[in-house]
Amino acid sequence: MIYLDHAAATPVSAKVLEAMKPYFLDEFFNPSSAYLPAKKVNADYEAAKGEIAHAIGAKGNDIIITAGATEANNLAFTAISSNAKVLYLKTEHDSVRNPARQFDYEEIEVDKNGRIVLDDLKKKISENTEMISVALANNELGTIQPLAEIASLIREIRIERMQKKNPHPLFLHSDASQAMNLLDINVARLGVDLLTLNAAKVYGPKGVGALYVAHDVRLKPVTLGGGQENGLRSGTQNVPGVIGFAVALKNAKEHLNGNRKKYAEMRKVLLNEVKDYELINKKYSLDNFVVLCFDGLDAERLIYALEDRGVYVSTGAACAASKGVRSHVLMAIGLTESEIAGSLRITLGETNTLEQIHEAAKIINEVVEAEKARISG
Ligand code: PLP
Repeated sequence: MIYLDHAAATPVSAKVLEAMKPYFLDEFFNPSSAYLPAKKVNADYEAAKGEIAHAIGAKGNDIIITAGATEANNLAFTAISSNAKVLYLKTEHDSVRNPARQFDYEEIEVDKNGRIVLDDLKKKISENTEMISVALANNELGTIQPLAEIASLIREIRIERMQKKNPHPLFLHSDASQAMNLLDINVARLGVDLLTLNAAKVYGPKGVGALYVAHDVRLKPVTLGGGQENGLRSGTQNVPGVIGFAVALKNAKEHLNGNRKKYAEMRKVLLNEVKDYELINKKYSLDNFVVLCFDGLDAERLIYALEDRGVYVSTGAACAASKGVRSHVLMAIGLTESEIAGSLRITLGETNTLEQIHEAAKIINEVVEAEKARISG
């Protein structure tokens, strides 16, 4: 198998699994229980939260653990009032688009590279805009957004609002699910008020995520119950998940530079050896994302033919692909219907070797040739 869909899922790394194991077997206690072994589990949980927070330049108390990035994104939108206006980037993941659409919303345009059109953002901010949501890196193209620039614009608007005595807050939220393997994330440098993290994309367990929350942001609970996670996300803590997440993030941090080099080289090999494609994500992309368009061909058919040869790729977001919906991301960057239909997303990861990439390029060429021959009869 040559697995080239790491944006959809990453395997749990051996180190992460090893760290999690004791918390399933021996240290299984409820962290809220009164006896000593449970108190130790609670201390380990809090320490792991501290490490997760430290990886993004924050403190343990600044993050809320959630059951994944979807929940963290939904929780972020509880920061604003029900009559507020929301702006989000047109290419956001559905777990941002759908909660945002519960409010009065507008979409911010992107250019052909998938980068935010800052003038469009400026134009659309109104007196009651309370939330702007822009993913640090897109999950279909890998496009990295200039968050610090957006944050600086937001700071100017906050000052204006203060002078005009406009009581509406203005928050910047970013979903960093796809960015943690390749970018050194620091909340102060990015200037975000809310940041979503996802263990499942960094060789950690699925169903574990976190939301960083700046000190002046007040959220509302997504679940009511025993009051865990500062009362915002009640439910017995997922101790093994959080322990695993902390180790996964630490690993990711340690390997940032090596990963970037490794994926840049693999990307180059693919671009040199695959034939007759148009590269969709030419600029500002994470190095592990390669989006290739074979215009006139049906990427769905290519995916099945590649699967028969042991190569796993995707057409876009795993959830959209499984519903047969055309990618809103590829539409947003102005691709035609036929270009969208012919686009493949390859996402590289720790399971890949250079030999695999040479082999995958060869198989892609053969599958594309066979498909062209089939069409021309
Ligand atoms: N946000 C982005 C950018 C993603 O890529 C994903 C997962 O594909 C999610 C959010 C949702 O993550 P989860 O399904 O783990 O909640």
